[in-house]
Amino acid sequence: MASIFSRIVAGEIPSYRIAETESCYAFLDINPLAKGHTLVIPKQEIDNIFDLDEALYQELFSFAKQVSHAIEKTIPCERIGMSVIGLEVPHAHIHLIPINTLRDMDFSKQRVALTAEQFQEIAASIAQNIV
Ligand code: 5GP
Repeated sequence: MASIFSRIVAGEIPSYRIAETESCYAFLDINPLAKGHTLVIPKQEIDNIFDLDEALYQELFSFAKQVSHAIEKTIPCERIGMSVIGLEVPHAHIHLIPINTLRDMDFSKQRVALTAEQFQEIAASIAQNIV
């Protein structure tokens, strides 16, 4: 069965799109640790990020770098934290999270509740800052 992220890429499940390339897609995490928490994924469904072929691996991280600059321009924060976990969704993804303290990277902490309008506004603002 296709992963939830493959279904997002296919447009079967909606997402708050930020940017994409031919091979990669960036969208807001639906259960964010902070406003602007973004997921960057390869469109190809591969579970473990370290199993990506070298070209796709490089492209994914370059794309994540580009997206992180746009998040940083949009969301006031000290820096963008990056994490790869993958215990919940078996489709490689990079978390990009606006942070101010170490605690902001604690994945066991309470997630931020946002309305659909807030998600839309955040995604559109970050998307505008992609260069
Ligand atoms: P991980 O697999 O790295 O432990 O976490 C997966 C992340 O994907 C979580 O932060 C979770 O909130 C997010 N997530 C799970 N399902 C969906 C979904 O359907 N849409 C979006 N946008 N994010 C999701």
